Amino acid sequence: MRGLILVVEDERAISDLLRLYISREGFGVHVATDGLSALSAARTMHPAAIVLDVGLPAMDGTEVCRALRAEGNWVPILFCTARDDEVDRVLGLELGADDYITKPFSPREVVARIKSVVRRASLVTADEKPLELGEVTVDLVTRRVTLGGEPVALTATEFDLLAHLMRHPGRVYSREQLLSEVWGYAAVVGTRTVDVHVAQVRGKLGDRNPIRTVRGVGYSAEAPDAS
Ligand code: CA
Repeated sequence: MRGLILVVEDERAISDLLRLYISREGFGVHVATDGLSALSAARTMHPAAIVLDVGLPAMDGTEVCRALRAEGNWVPILFCTARDDEVDRVLGLELGADDYITKPFSPREVVARIKSVVRRASLVTADEKPLELGEVTVDLVTRRVTLGGEPVALTATEFDLLAHLMRHPGRVYSREQLLSEVWGYAAVVGTRTVDVHVAQVRGKLGDRNPIRTVRGVGYSAEAPDAS
């Protein structure tokens, strides 16, 4: 088995479909139908990733995500949103979402996204050296980031984005390249996703963040004193 995927969805027809497609890929599937049971399943079952509906009874998906992040749980989370205003909430609130997909979605697309976040979380070999740039250190093995020696909490996607840029300091990546190389799929969600995650990494690292905007091209990582 490739790991357990926690599917949080209150519509039976959708969760049945997701269970079918996800288990076909060799993952185990556990379905939770409300926010509270999702929280307890996330805490006790250690899923490889969570597919999290935003609109849920009692405690909605954004609250579940916020609660997990607040307790230091950085399991990859793929949000399912039903409306544009939900997309804005997921992207805008620095919730710590890794990705989102808009309903109605194809189950194949959901599976592709799940495989992508799970693959990214397990790409690193045990002897890879930490990446350093200025005061920022990225430990690829423990997936920890420090700023001037102090730990910084990043989501799985923020971590992967920063690590990808820092592997080749000075190299400039277009948004489309980053979507395909970091997220692992074509730019169907649009490049706004990249900008949002870059903004979140910058917000967390403050003045000493190494990500530079290269106007009209994309992003690169450089030591803060490089011009
Ligand atoms: Ca729902």
